[in-house]
Amino acid sequence: MKRLYNFSAGPSQLPLSVLEKAQADLVSYQDCGSSVMEMSHRSAYFEPIIQDAEATLRRIMNIPDNYAVLFLQGGASLQFSMIPMNLAKQGDTMAYIVTGQFAKKAFQEGKRWGNAVCVASGEDTNFQTIPEVTPDMIPADAKFVHFTGNNTIFGTTFNTLPDVGDKTMVCDLSSVILGKEFDVSKFGLIYAGAQKNMGIGGLTVVIVRKDLISSDLDPVVPSMLRYDLMEKNDSMYNTPPCWAIYMAGLVFHWVEDMGGIKAMEKLNKEKSDLLYDYLDQSKLFHPVADKKDRSYMNVTFTLPTEEQTKAFLALCKERDMINIKGHRSVGGCRASIYNAMPIEGVKLLVETMKEFEAKETGNV
Ligand SMILES: *Cc1c(COP(=O)(O)O)cnc(C)c1O
Repeated sequence: MKRLYNFSAGPSQLPLSVLEKAQADLVSYQDCGSSVMEMSHRSAYFEPIIQDAEATLRRIMNIPDNYAVLFLQGGASLQFSMIPMNLAKQGDTMAYIVTGQFAKKAFQEGKRWGNAVCVASGEDTNFQTIPEVTPDMIPADAKFVHFTGNNTIFGTTFNTLPDVGDKTMVCDLSSVILGKEFDVSKFGLIYAGAQKNMGIGGLTVVIVRKDLISSDLDPVVPSMLRYDLMEKNDSMYNTPPCWAIYMAGLVFHWVEDMGGIKAMEKLNKEKSDLLYDYLDQSKLFHPVADKKDRSYMNVTFTLPTEEQTKAFLALCKERDMINIKGHRSVGGCRASIYNAMPIEGVKLLVETMKEFEAKETGNV
Protein backbone atom coordinates (compact mmCIF):
# COMPACT_ATOMS: atom_id res chain seq x y z
CA MET A 1 0.00 0.00 0.00
CA LYS A 2 1.31 3.40 -1.00
CA ARG A 3 1.88 6.04 1.71
CA LEU A 4 3.30 9.49 1.00
CA TYR A 5 5.28 11.82 3.22
CA ASN A 6 2.67 14.50 3.71
CA PHE A 7 4.17 17.83 4.78
CA SER A 8 0.79 19.58 4.83
CA ALA A 9 0.14 22.26 7.46
CA GLY A 10 -3.23 20.67 8.11
CA PRO A 11 -5.07 18.39 7.88
CA SER A 12 -1.80 16.57 8.23
CA GLN A 13 -0.25 13.14 8.25
CA LEU A 14 -1.47 10.69 10.89
CA PRO A 15 0.58 7.90 12.47
CA LEU A 16 0.18 4.73 10.41
CA SER A 17 -0.60 2.67 13.51
CA VAL A 18 -3.49 5.03 14.33
CA LEU A 19 -4.93 4.66 10.83
CA GLU A 20 -4.61 0.90 11.02
CA LYS A 21 -6.33 0.76 14.39
CA ALA A 22 -9.13 2.95 13.02
CA GLN A 23 -9.36 0.71 9.98
CA ALA A 24 -9.75 -2.38 12.14
CA ASP A 25 -12.52 -0.64 14.12
CA LEU A 26 -14.14 1.13 11.19
CA VAL A 27 -16.93 -1.27 10.30
CA SER A 28 -17.54 -2.87 13.68
CA TYR A 29 -16.12 -1.18 16.78
CA GLN A 30 -14.62 -3.84 19.05
CA ASP A 31 -16.85 -6.30 17.24
CA CYS A 32 -19.99 -4.68 18.65
CA GLY A 33 -21.65 -4.70 15.24
CA SER A 34 -21.66 -0.93 14.64
CA SER A 35 -19.15 1.66 13.57
CA VAL A 36 -18.32 4.57 15.90
CA MET A 37 -19.77 6.67 13.06
CA GLU A 38 -23.14 4.96 13.44
CA MET A 39 -23.57 4.81 17.19
CA SER A 40 -25.40 7.09 19.58
CA HIS A 41 -23.15 9.45 21.49
CA ARG A 42 -25.13 8.39 24.57
CA SER A 43 -24.43 4.69 24.00
CA ALA A 44 -22.52 2.45 26.35
CA TYR A 45 -19.81 2.21 23.66
CA PHE A 46 -19.26 5.88 22.98
CA GLU A 47 -19.24 7.24 26.51
CA PRO A 48 -16.06 5.35 27.44
CA ILE A 49 -14.46 6.57 24.18
CA ILE A 50 -14.90 10.26 25.03
CA GLN A 51 -14.05 9.69 28.70
CA ASP A 52 -10.88 7.81 27.80
CA ALA A 53 -9.87 10.49 25.26
CA GLU A 54 -10.18 13.16 27.95
CA ALA A 55 -8.39 11.11 30.60
CA THR A 56 -5.51 10.34 28.22
CA LEU A 57 -5.14 13.97 27.19
CA ARG A 58 -5.15 14.98 30.86
CA ARG A 59 -2.35 12.49 31.54
CA ILE A 60 -0.11 13.40 28.63
CA MET A 61 -0.53 17.18 29.04
CA ASN A 62 -0.57 17.08 32.83
CA ILE A 63 -3.79 19.09 32.92
CA PRO A 64 -4.66 20.21 36.47
CA ASP A 65 -8.07 19.28 37.91
CA ASN A 66 -9.22 22.88 38.00
CA TYR A 67 -9.25 22.92 34.20
CA ALA A 68 -12.11 21.69 32.02
CA VAL A 69 -11.43 19.87 28.75
CA LEU A 70 -14.06 20.56 26.10
CA PHE A 71 -14.45 18.76 22.77
CA LEU A 72 -16.09 21.26 20.43
CA GLN A 73 -16.74 21.89 16.74
CA GLY A 74 -16.29 24.90 14.47
CA GLY A 75 -12.50 24.67 14.23
CA ALA A 76 -9.97 26.83 16.00
CA SER A 77 -11.55 29.71 14.07
CA LEU A 78 -14.82 29.52 16.03
CA GLN A 79 -12.81 30.06 19.21
CA PHE A 80 -11.81 33.48 17.85
CA SER A 81 -15.47 34.39 18.55
CA MET A 82 -16.29 32.13 21.50
CA ILE A 83 -13.40 33.38 23.64
CA PRO A 84 -14.48 37.05 23.70
CA MET A 85 -18.14 36.05 24.19
CA ASN A 86 -17.35 33.86 27.18
CA LEU A 87 -14.46 35.69 28.81
CA ALA A 88 -15.57 39.30 28.33
CA LYS A 89 -18.68 41.42 28.23
CA GLN A 90 -19.51 43.48 25.14
CA GLY A 91 -17.29 46.55 25.13
CA ASP A 92 -14.69 45.09 27.51
CA THR A 93 -11.01 45.53 26.76
CA MET A 94 -9.10 42.49 25.43
CA ALA A 95 -5.43 42.46 24.44
CA TYR A 96 -4.10 40.72 21.32
CA ILE A 97 -0.56 39.95 20.22
CA VAL A 98 -0.68 39.81 16.44
CA THR A 99 1.99 37.48 15.07
CA GLY A 100 0.38 36.07 11.94
CA GLN A 101 -2.74 35.52 9.88
CA PHE A 102 -4.61 33.50 12.49
CA ALA A 103 -3.68 35.91 15.27
CA LYS A 104 -4.99 38.73 13.10
CA LYS A 105 -8.24 36.92 12.48
CA ALA A 106 -8.66 36.34 16.21
CA PHE A 107 -8.04 40.05 16.78
CA GLN A 108 -10.61 41.00 14.15
CA GLU A 109 -13.25 38.75 15.72
CA GLY A 110 -12.43 40.25 19.12
CA LYS A 111 -13.18 43.69 17.68
CA ARG A 112 -16.72 42.60 16.82
CA TRP A 113 -17.38 42.01 20.51
CA GLY A 114 -15.44 44.56 22.47
CA ASN A 115 -12.49 46.86 22.75
CA ALA A 116 -9.88 44.57 21.23
CA VAL A 117 -6.46 46.20 21.42
CA CYS A 118 -3.43 45.07 19.45
CA VAL A 119 -0.58 45.38 21.98
CA ALA A 120 2.21 44.13 19.73
CA SER A 121 2.45 43.12 16.09
CA GLY A 122 4.99 41.50 13.80
CA GLU A 123 3.25 42.70 10.66
CA ASP A 124 5.94 45.26 9.73
CA THR A 125 8.36 42.38 9.08
CA ASN A 126 5.66 40.29 7.35
CA PHE A 127 5.54 38.26 10.56
CA GLN A 128 9.10 36.94 10.34
CA THR A 129 9.72 37.94 13.95
CA ILE A 130 7.91 37.61 17.25
CA PRO A 131 7.60 41.03 18.91
CA GLU A 132 8.69 41.44 22.49
CA VAL A 133 5.92 41.86 25.04
CA THR A 134 6.25 43.40 28.49
CA PRO A 135 3.49 43.76 31.11
CA ASP A 136 3.39 47.56 30.79
CA MET A 137 2.16 47.18 27.18
CA ILE A 138 -1.06 45.57 28.32
CA PRO A 139 -4.05 47.75 29.24
CA ALA A 140 -4.80 47.46 32.97
CA ASP A 141 -8.44 46.53 32.32
CA ALA A 142 -7.74 43.82 29.70
CA LYS A 143 -9.79 40.70 30.46
CA PHE A 144 -7.16 38.51 28.82
CA VAL A 145 -4.17 38.53 26.48
CA HIS A 146 -4.62 36.43 23.37
CA PHE A 147 -1.69 35.09 21.36
CA THR A 148 -0.86 32.34 18.88
CA GLY A 149 1.72 29.95 20.28
CA ASN A 150 2.96 28.79 16.90
CA ASN A 151 2.39 30.65 13.65
CA THR A 152 1.63 27.90 11.18
CA ILE A 153 1.84 30.05 8.05
CA PHE A 154 5.02 32.00 8.81
CA GLY A 155 6.90 29.31 10.70
CA THR A 156 7.52 31.35 13.83
CA THR A 157 6.87 30.47 17.43
CA PHE A 158 7.00 31.88 20.94
CA ASN A 159 10.10 30.07 22.17
CA THR A 160 9.40 31.68 25.53
CA LEU A 161 5.93 32.70 26.61
CA PRO A 162 5.17 36.43 26.43
CA ASP A 163 5.47 38.30 29.72
CA VAL A 164 1.92 39.47 30.40
CA GLY A 165 2.34 40.05 34.13
CA ASP A 166 -0.69 38.86 36.07
CA LYS A 167 -3.05 38.92 33.10
CA THR A 168 -4.89 35.81 31.91
CA MET A 169 -3.15 34.18 28.95
CA VAL A 170 -5.35 32.77 26.19
CA CYS A 171 -3.45 30.83 23.57
CA ASP A 172 -4.10 29.27 20.17
CA LEU A 173 -1.87 26.18 20.20
CA SER A 174 -3.38 24.61 17.06
CA SER A 175 -0.10 23.76 15.37
CA VAL A 176 2.11 22.93 18.35
CA ILE A 177 -0.10 21.24 20.95
CA LEU A 178 1.33 17.81 21.87
CA GLY A 179 4.50 18.74 19.96
CA LYS A 180 6.11 20.57 22.83
CA GLU A 181 5.66 20.60 26.60
CA PHE A 182 3.51 23.40 28.02
CA ASP A 183 2.73 24.15 31.63
CA VAL A 184 -1.07 24.32 31.38
CA SER A 185 -1.32 26.08 34.75
CA LYS A 186 0.27 29.19 33.22
CA PHE A 187 -2.73 29.64 30.90
CA GLY A 188 -6.32 30.67 31.40
CA LEU A 189 -7.36 28.97 28.20
CA ILE A 190 -5.70 26.90 25.50
CA TYR A 191 -7.39 25.86 22.28
CA ALA A 192 -6.42 23.91 19.19
CA GLY A 193 -7.99 22.49 16.06
CA ALA A 194 -7.35 18.75 16.07
CA GLN A 195 -6.33 18.38 12.42
CA LYS A 196 -2.67 19.33 12.94
CA ASN A 197 -1.26 17.39 15.85
CA MET A 198 -4.27 15.72 17.48
CA GLY A 199 -6.15 13.93 14.75
CA ILE A 200 -8.63 14.97 12.09
CA GLY A 201 -10.76 17.96 11.11
CA GLY A 202 -14.08 18.55 12.84
CA LEU A 203 -12.83 18.67 16.42
CA THR A 204 -11.48 21.55 18.47
CA VAL A 205 -10.09 20.99 21.95
CA VAL A 206 -10.49 23.76 24.53
CA ILE A 207 -8.70 23.53 27.88
CA VAL A 208 -10.03 26.23 30.17
CA ARG A 209 -9.56 27.08 33.82
CA LYS A 210 -12.90 26.43 35.47
CA ASP A 211 -13.18 29.78 37.25
CA LEU A 212 -13.17 31.47 33.83
CA ILE A 213 -16.28 29.59 32.73
CA SER A 214 -19.06 32.04 33.45
CA SER A 215 -22.82 31.54 33.35
CA ASP A 216 -23.40 35.24 33.57
CA LEU A 217 -23.13 35.88 29.84
CA ASP A 218 -24.69 38.42 27.56
CA PRO A 219 -28.09 36.98 26.52
CA VAL A 220 -27.18 37.34 22.84
CA VAL A 221 -24.58 34.56 23.16
CA PRO A 222 -26.08 31.50 21.43
CA SER A 223 -26.33 28.35 23.55
CA MET A 224 -24.01 26.47 21.23
CA LEU A 225 -21.28 29.05 21.88
CA ARG A 226 -21.39 28.87 25.68
CA TYR A 227 -18.59 27.10 27.52
CA ASP A 228 -20.78 26.68 30.62
CA LEU A 229 -23.36 24.62 28.73
CA MET A 230 -20.69 22.55 27.02
CA GLU A 231 -18.96 21.86 30.33
CA LYS A 232 -22.19 21.01 32.16
CA ASN A 233 -23.06 18.53 29.42
CA ASP A 234 -19.59 16.93 29.18
CA SER A 235 -19.18 18.28 25.61
CA MET A 236 -22.43 16.53 24.62
CA TYR A 237 -24.93 19.36 24.73
CA ASN A 238 -25.68 18.19 21.20
CA THR A 239 -24.19 15.47 19.01
CA PRO A 240 -20.41 15.77 19.29
CA PRO A 241 -18.01 14.91 16.43
CA CYS A 242 -17.88 11.28 17.56
CA TRP A 243 -15.46 9.93 14.98
CA ALA A 244 -13.05 12.85 15.39
CA ILE A 245 -13.06 12.36 19.17
CA TYR A 246 -12.41 8.64 18.70
CA MET A 247 -9.48 9.44 16.37
CA ALA A 248 -8.07 12.01 18.79
CA GLY A 249 -8.20 9.38 21.53
CA LEU A 250 -6.11 7.05 19.37
CA VAL A 251 -3.59 9.83 18.72
CA PHE A 252 -3.38 10.65 22.45
CA HIS A 253 -2.59 7.00 23.20
CA TRP A 254 -0.02 6.95 20.41
CA VAL A 255 1.74 9.99 21.91
CA GLU A 256 1.72 8.29 25.31
CA ASP A 257 3.13 5.08 23.84
CA MET A 258 5.86 7.06 22.07
CA GLY A 259 7.07 8.30 25.45
CA GLY A 260 4.76 11.28 25.91
CA ILE A 261 5.11 14.90 24.88
CA LYS A 262 8.66 15.15 26.22
CA ALA A 263 9.76 12.45 23.77
CA MET A 264 7.79 14.06 20.93
CA GLU A 265 9.45 17.39 21.65
CA LYS A 266 12.90 15.83 21.51
CA LEU A 267 12.13 14.14 18.22
CA ASN A 268 10.62 17.32 16.78
CA LYS A 269 13.73 19.25 17.75
CA GLU A 270 15.90 16.65 16.02
CA LYS A 271 13.76 16.79 12.89
CA SER A 272 13.74 20.58 12.65
CA ASP A 273 17.48 20.79 13.43
CA LEU A 274 18.14 18.64 10.37
CA LEU A 275 16.29 21.15 8.21
CA TYR A 276 17.54 24.37 9.81
CA ASP A 277 21.17 23.20 9.94
CA TYR A 278 20.98 22.56 6.24
CA LEU A 279 19.14 25.82 5.50
CA ASP A 280 21.65 27.89 7.48
CA GLN A 281 24.54 26.90 5.24
CA SER A 282 22.69 26.53 1.95
CA LYS A 283 23.57 28.84 -0.92
CA LEU A 284 20.23 28.23 -2.63
CA PHE A 285 17.55 27.77 0.01
CA HIS A 286 16.85 30.60 2.41
CA PRO A 287 15.08 30.26 5.78
CA VAL A 288 12.23 32.75 6.29
CA ALA A 289 11.69 33.07 10.04
CA ASP A 290 14.11 34.92 12.32
CA LYS A 291 16.48 32.42 13.90
CA LYS A 292 15.42 33.08 17.50
CA ASP A 293 11.72 32.72 16.66
CA ARG A 294 11.83 29.61 14.51
CA SER A 295 9.10 27.04 14.77
CA TYR A 296 9.99 23.41 14.88
CA MET A 297 6.61 22.39 13.58
CA ASN A 298 6.43 24.50 10.41
CA VAL A 299 9.68 25.24 8.60
CA THR A 300 9.42 28.00 5.99
CA PHE A 301 12.04 28.63 3.30
CA THR A 302 12.39 30.16 -0.13
CA LEU A 303 14.37 29.65 -3.33
CA PRO A 304 15.71 32.51 -5.49
CA THR A 305 13.16 32.19 -8.32
CA GLU A 306 9.62 30.99 -8.97
CA GLU A 307 10.92 28.50 -11.58
CA GLN A 308 13.33 26.95 -9.11
CA THR A 309 10.56 26.69 -6.52
CA LYS A 310 8.32 24.91 -8.99
CA ALA A 311 11.08 22.56 -10.12
CA PHE A 312 11.97 21.73 -6.52
CA LEU A 313 8.34 21.02 -5.56
CA ALA A 314 8.00 18.79 -8.63
CA LEU A 315 11.10 16.83 -7.61
CA CYS A 316 9.69 16.38 -4.10
CA LYS A 317 6.44 15.09 -5.53
CA GLU A 318 8.30 12.64 -7.72
CA ARG A 319 9.85 11.28 -4.51
CA ASP A 320 6.51 10.94 -2.71
CA MET A 321 6.84 14.12 -0.64
CA ILE A 322 3.76 16.31 -0.98
CA ASN A 323 2.26 19.62 0.19
CA ILE A 324 5.53 21.52 0.57
CA LYS A 325 4.30 24.60 -1.28
CA GLY A 326 4.28 27.64 1.02
CA HIS A 327 1.18 29.59 1.97
CA ARG A 328 0.30 32.23 -0.63
CA SER A 329 1.05 35.06 1.82
CA VAL A 330 4.67 33.92 2.25
CA GLY A 331 5.38 32.08 -1.00
CA GLY A 332 8.26 29.62 -1.33
CA CYS A 333 8.08 26.40 0.62
CA ARG A 334 6.86 25.18 3.97
CA ALA A 335 7.55 21.79 5.49
CA SER A 336 5.16 21.03 8.31
CA ILE A 337 6.77 18.34 10.40
CA TYR A 338 4.23 17.55 13.08
CA ASN A 339 4.47 14.63 15.49
CA ALA A 340 3.40 12.02 12.94
CA MET A 341 6.06 12.95 10.36
CA PRO A 342 8.79 10.33 10.77
CA ILE A 343 12.41 11.49 10.81
CA GLU A 344 12.95 9.43 7.63
CA GLY A 345 10.63 11.87 5.80
CA VAL A 346 12.71 14.84 6.96
CA LYS A 347 15.96 13.09 6.01
CA LEU A 348 14.61 12.40 2.54
CA LEU A 349 13.59 16.05 2.20
CA VAL A 350 17.05 17.30 3.23
CA GLU A 351 18.73 14.82 0.85
CA THR A 352 16.52 16.08 -1.96
CA MET A 353 17.33 19.70 -1.14
CA LYS A 354 21.04 18.91 -1.20
CA GLU A 355 20.79 17.23 -4.58
CA PHE A 356 18.70 20.03 -5.99
CA GLU A 357 21.14 22.65 -4.75
CA ALA A 358 24.11 20.78 -6.21
CA LYS A 359 22.40 20.57 -9.57
CA GLU A 360 21.29 24.22 -9.60
CA THR A 361 24.67 25.59 -8.53
CA GLY A 362 26.61 23.31 -10.85
CA ASN A 363 28.38 21.47 -8.02
CA VAL A 364 27.38 17.97 -9.08
C1 LIG B 1 -4.99 25.93 11.30
C2 LIG B 1 -5.00 27.00 12.30
C3 LIG B 1 -6.17 27.69 12.63
C4 LIG B 1 -7.47 27.46 11.92
O1 LIG B 1 -8.01 26.27 12.31
P1 LIG B 1 -9.45 25.79 11.84
O2 LIG B 1 -9.64 24.58 12.68
O3 LIG B 1 -9.35 25.53 10.38
O4 LIG B 1 -10.41 26.87 12.15
C5 LIG B 1 -6.11 28.66 13.62
N1 LIG B 1 -4.97 28.93 14.26
C6 LIG B 1 -3.81 28.28 13.96
C7 LIG B 1 -2.56 28.62 14.71
C8 LIG B 1 -3.80 27.30 12.99
O5 LIG B 1 -2.66 26.67 12.69
